[in-house]
Amino acid sequence: MTAGQQALEAPVILTYPDARLRRVARAVAPDDASLPLALRQLEQAMGAGPGAVGIAAPQIGLDQRIIIVDCSAARRPCRHHGRLVMLNPVIEDRHGRVLGREGCLSVPDWVGMVPRSQWIRVSFLSPEGETRRIESSGFEARVIQHEMDHLDGILFIDRVVSVRDLVRRTKG
Ligand code: ZN
Repeated sequence: MTAGQQALEAPVILTYPDARLRRVARAVAPDDASLPLALRQLEQAMGAGPGAVGIAAPQIGLDQRIIIVDCSAARRPCRHHGRLVMLNPVIEDRHGRVLGREGCLSVPDWVGMVPRSQWIRVSFLSPEGETRRIESSGFEARVIQHEMDHLDGILFIDRVVSVRDLVRRTKG
């Protein structure tokens, strides 16, 4: 920590079955006065989870449609857009369907096989208020869909096809 930086208390990551994870978050305006603090808290919460590739505002109790996705440090290399800070993301088009393994900071003890679209086109606002549109596929597309679900109160455990697709994370 350097001089002048303010120590920020690390936000608590809400875990299942906290009811706040089930709310539908509100659209956020780029000039919302609470946005800079929300973004700092999200960055901090994401940094606290080792290997975290994404986080959504409802996971720290914020009722705003904000997600951060960053697959550049994913354990398995994949195609990605670097760090994406997305306000009010909307999936405009999608195709394909693939099963893949997911975990979540808010469901720490479980991993599951979840079906997702293989390819998506998503539009969103940057924190600077610019409209952006990207096409994403594979693992990054999966992470975007997972984080966007949080904005609608949906967890990956809701999407597993069968309870046999849900396994307890091995400790250690
Ligand atoms: Zn999650």
